[in-house]
Amino acid sequence: MFPMSLIVQKFGGTSVANTESLQVVAQRIIDCKNKGNDVVVVPSAMGSSTDELINLAHELSSKPSPREMDMLLSAGERITMSLLSIHLNSLGYKSISLTGSQAGIITSSRHGKAEIEEITGERVREGLSSGNIVIVAGFQGFNRDTREITTLGRGGSDATAVALAAALGAERCEIFTDVDGVFTADPRVVNDAKLIEEISYDEMLEMASSGAGVLMARSVEFGRRYNIPIIVKSTFTNNKGTLVTEKTMEEAIVSGVTHNDKEIKFTLYGVPDQPGIAGKFFGALSESGINVDMIVQNVSKKSITDISFTAPVDQKSDVEEILSKVSKDLNAEGYDIDENVARVSIIGAGMKSESGVASRMFNTLGKNSINISMISTSPIRVSCVINRKDTKKALESLHKEFIS
Ligand code: ASP
Ligand code: MG
Repeated sequence: MFPMSLIVQKFGGTSVANTESLQVVAQRIIDCKNKGNDVVVVPSAMGSSTDELINLAHELSSKPSPREMDMLLSAGERITMSLLSIHLNSLGYKSISLTGSQAGIITSSRHGKAEIEEITGERVREGLSSGNIVIVAGFQGFNRDTREITTLGRGGSDATAVALAAALGAERCEIFTDVDGVFTADPRVVNDAKLIEEISYDEMLEMASSGAGVLMARSVEFGRRYNIPIIVKSTFTNNKGTLVTEKTMEEAIVSGVTHNDKEIKFTLYGVPDQPGIAGKFFGALSESGINVDMIVQNVSKKSITDISFTAPVDQKSDVEEILSKVSKDLNAEGYDIDENVARVSIIGAGMKSESGVASRMFNTLGKNSINISMISTSPIRVSCVINRKDTKKALESLHKEFIS
């Protein structure tokens, strides 16, 4: 007999929003099991319940303790995992649900943003070998030193799923969501956006880190590191979805256009232009767990310079706290916050061997009277920060220029 293959299936919040959708999900799981596979399932919290839990905490405290937030938020996925297991049992399928810590998902100790360090997976393997469909709560783990429950950051169930697939030697990881897969642009903004059939880890990583919300970037990193094929597809249709894999047949110059309008721009004015200043400043930001994205340091006049960067809007108050402290410590002239920004990016592996792609992007934006305030590039991405009100126009014109 052939050895059974193992498949990890992850279901996002909208796929498990209520008991009706849990029944659809159960059918997906059963179909996979009935094909002779071992199945490990990673559910998210139901619908927007994570947001609701966050709101409840904020009704009671403006700065809830990160430890208690993790205790609270990890409950979301526990509800889904047990309901799903109860339902599978009632349909005659053996199933067991496990929390992250029961599954041996060992993480760093940082609450709210823990990183998966190791997956022991004993109870998952035991569960599978006694014929169960094993359901593992997404988004959570356990730190050995602090002996605390942790969560992995928003959207973290994707990371749980792909990391589990890697640790268990799964054949693939299927990410079920409410859209048909990964698109060449956000279909809610660009009408012509098309489904991408196949995309490389590198491109997907750039797409995910530059605004494509469909996969969490860290999950793509795991996929790339352990070469786990990831398939992103809809729970509710029978579309083939998007395969994220190592090498694709053809390297498009631009595979996708993304945007991120959940970042704001900060500028620190009049900082001394001396060695060590940027290190000190960005060191302070990173110690506080702030995800600094684009950075621009202006040309200095009289040994004084301005430094601009973008960071997620939900970290605004933390950044502000550090900015006001650092600007005093460094004797800076002051700081400024611009909330009306958005970042648009073009991503494509074919860019590496094609010149003039960046200037084509700038020209396209220019022709549409869109001003660029910051630029950053990687070998397969060009990003521009623009005024937020121009986002749709920018995306449509870039999509037209490079893709449709
Ligand atoms: N429930 C968590 C969130 O909403 C994790 C996830 O959905 O992946 O961020
Ligand atoms: Mg969610």
